[in-house]
Amino acid sequence: MTYHIAVVAGDGIGPEITQAAQQVLERVGSRYGHTFQFEQVLAGGAALDAFGVPLPEESLRQCQQADSVLLGAVGGPKWDTLPGHLRPERALLAIRKELGLFANLRPAKLYPQLKEASPLRADIADAGFDIVIVRELTGGMYFGPSGRKDSPDGQQAYDTEIYSVKEIERIARVAFELAQGRAKKLCSIDKANVLESSRLWRETVHRVAADYPDVALSDMLVDNAAMQLVGNPAQFDVIVTSNLFGDILSDEASKLTGSIGLLPSASLGEDKRGMYEPIHGSAPDIAGQGLANPIATILSVAMMLRLSFRLADAADAVEGAVQRVLLSGARTADIAHGGPWVNCARMTELILEELA
Ligand code: NAD
Repeated sequence: MTYHIAVVAGDGIGPEITQAAQQVLERVGSRYGHTFQFEQVLAGGAALDAFGVPLPEESLRQCQQADSVLLGAVGGPKWDTLPGHLRPERALLAIRKELGLFANLRPAKLYPQLKEASPLRADIADAGFDIVIVRELTGGMYFGPSGRKDSPDGQQAYDTEIYSVKEIERIARVAFELAQGRAKKLCSIDKANVLESSRLWRETVHRVAADYPDVALSDMLVDNAAMQLVGNPAQFDVIVTSNLFGDILSDEASKLTGSIGLLPSASLGEDKRGMYEPIHGSAPDIAGQGLANPIATILSVAMMLRLSFRLADAADAVEGAVQRVLLSGARTADIAHGGPWVNCARMTELILEELA
């Protein structure tokens, strides 16, 4: 098979880490008999410099026509003072919206060999965890009516959480299907004791559950979930939650794994095309110095192979190669804790050697 991938290298460390991920896909292609064709797409600060807009129409078209999008990261101090509609991050929001990417999947897994990097107490870290948070990405509070108005007490500001049955059903199905391929446990997180939108969320998730009798569904209130994540993360398999709660809980979960440089993500739409990216930003403080950890981006293409291209063997091979390299003791600077470390290119080479 030939797969067309739009590569948005972006800014800062984006070009270094997407280069590493493309090398990994090329190696996967030669091992499994697939061809990956890469089309370089200008977006974010790089597009602002070249065309004065964060996402030129041609760039959006390239993303729409690709089988999937690989994104490094966008942004940096150079563009920080631009007005909102010209910020590099606008490019990401526009790609997500135009491609209908409503489901954000963020795995958070504690590698046993990196336990000491986790802020968790040793006995909790010893139990390990392997969680995927499924966050609704195009609805809820971030997209509901918001504004300001005058009141006798001074200005009032409001944001509105709105969810429809259709939006909840489709994100629930993504989560149930994912749980079917894992430990078959799904925890739906809401605030149904207070919020009407959460009560509709809970009712709908339970109705959808009837179609997935092999998955054990539980509910948890978001405040309890925030505590349970640090107290007993091993209890979770797949979590599904709203845009706002997912934003906060997925950052909390990612911190528990030790380094932001390790964590991939996928944003998916109805047709399983997706945008795959590390959860970190463009790290301008280390750009161009070989200090970037490429693993989050390499694991993002493993997610692409598994979720968009249905190439589970190839995805397993990439994830296995990363695990073995970490097990061998190789570390980039962010996870070396002052010990010896290798640069971005060398870490990539080690993973490629494991994949050969
Ligand atoms: P960041 O994630 O870029 O960096 C936070 C810290 O983590 C920095 O110390 C950085 O050096 C380190 N770091 C990040 N990725 C790393 C990696 N792969 N290897 C080693 N160390 C790594 O967050 P920030 O500093 O708050 O933001 C920098 C820029 O990135 C801003 O312009 C922000 O708007 C943008 N940003 C973009 C995205 C995206 O494109 N998806 C996401 C978040 C932030």
